[in-house]
Amino acid sequence: MSTFDPAAATAAYLAQLPPEVHAKATAYTQGGHWLLLWGFVVSLVIALIIVRLGVLDRISGSLQKSKPRPWLTTLMCVIVFTIVDWVLELPWSIYADWWRETQYGLSSQDFVGWFDESAKGLGIGIIASAIFLSLLYALIRWTKGMWWLWAGGLTAAFLLFAIVLSPVLIEPIFNKYTPAPPGPVRDAVVAMAKANGVPSDKIFIYNGSKQSNRYTANVSGLFGSARVAMSDTMFKKDADLAEVRGVVGHEMGHYVHQHSLWLTGSLSLLAIFAYWLANLLFMPAARLMGARHVDGIADPTGLPVLMVVIGLVMLLATPVRNTIIRTVEADADSFSLQRVNEPDGLAKALVKTIEYRAATPGKLEEFIFYDHPSVSSRVRKAMDWKAAHMKDAAPSPAGR
Ligand SMILES: [Zn+2]
Repeated sequence: MSTFDPAAATAAYLAQLPPEVHAKATAYTQGGHWLLLWGFVVSLVIALIIVRLGVLDRISGSLQKSKPRPWLTTLMCVIVFTIVDWVLELPWSIYADWWRETQYGLSSQDFVGWFDESAKGLGIGIIASAIFLSLLYALIRWTKGMWWLWAGGLTAAFLLFAIVLSPVLIEPIFNKYTPAPPGPVRDAVVAMAKANGVPSDKIFIYNGSKQSNRYTANVSGLFGSARVAMSDTMFKKDADLAEVRGVVGHEMGHYVHQHSLWLTGSLSLLAIFAYWLANLLFMPAARLMGARHVDGIADPTGLPVLMVVIGLVMLLATPVRNTIIRTVEADADSFSLQRVNEPDGLAKALVKTIEYRAATPGKLEEFIFYDHPSVSSRVRKAMDWKAAHMKDAAPSPAGR
């Protein structure tokens, strides 16, 4: 009988990457924390510019001349704001989403490819915000002081709608999904899907390496639209079967435990809180930002102010949102370990994610900023599980 030390095994996994790779990952991750703050500052400055130039006042003014048509005024304000905001924010987006990722070697996408996707994102954003914000303002007009509660229901409906339709409507716009080719990887994933009640007829590979070198897979959709999708990066970095099983087991955990429903519920509750606070803070914020013509939260020319207030509340709620997500991520790891029994496969895959999510954050940093548990704690959990189940471990079918 050998003695297995989970702490030493965890340290050995982390030591697979040289210190300079860990240092670079820490710089990338901690810089990313600051981007949250700077991103908010950028959106605040842009909102101030739009408010001070009176962009939306002019639209509203010319539309209201004949007779008040709140639907049309809201729709036009939303569309113009979305476009102007996108254009003014472009230099920041280029820096944060493209240049920085390229500098850290996390993306090899060229600028034209990135810009093309960003423009498609604008198109989707216009449609989504036109629908969502038109309905939100209608709720504000109809339900008066209680709109924030109704808006929580609207948010839940919108999130569910997006989850169900995204694999069908949105994801194919950005990536090419092809059925996984026959072979040992597909066989392993199909067997796992059958064993865990996941639809096994929809196993896809997508060209995720186009946007990023991240090692990742997902199970997205709900009910009939659910499917397993693996980024081609999982194959490029010569994944072995234990690794594929460990990762796909994690993703199937999200599906089987219906994490998307759980997240929709808890994030909608968080949204209700954000809307409630926004309702209180809107008029003081409008005065501070110099939006003099705005006569109440129902006035769509106050949209830039509303966005700033909700953005600020959500920025401050970062630890809450991350803790909600981190909780289901930890649960998905547990599912993978219990059902698939590949602690080393999971650990090996986790080491590859360190480059974009530093492995050993401080406890407070992890609590505030990490939407997944840190790799050091995830690998340690896998090694603890391995230690506890060594006696009854079945021989791995991975053939390693
Ligand atoms: Zn996950």
